Amino acid sequence: MCPFCRKEVPFDSWGEAMNVAEGKGFSDLGMTMPCCGRKGSLDRLDYRRPCAIAMFKIELRNVPGDVTEDMLKEAGRILGTGLKTVEARY
Ligand SMILES: [Zn+2]
Repeated sequence: MCPFCRKEVPFDSWGEAMNVAEGKGFSDLGMTMPCCGRKGSLDRLDYRRPCAIAMFKIELRNVPGDVTEDMLKEAGRILGTGLKTVEARY
């Protein structure tokens, strides 16, 4: 869903933007929103469920509690990149 005008992004437009991003090695996730023409980003769309576009993932299983913001910041500092949690449901 477009974060600006809240309209559904057609799957074809999303797929085309993903192909363009793939062609750039996912270094640029920018896209022009088909609904309102504003500059958006594949990772800033409002997806129905939490998701991320990432170069790698770190998977934690059976975590006894929530991953806190402090944990994310510290892990991001060590890895030299920002991190985001996406809760998987199987
Ligand atoms: Zn829009």
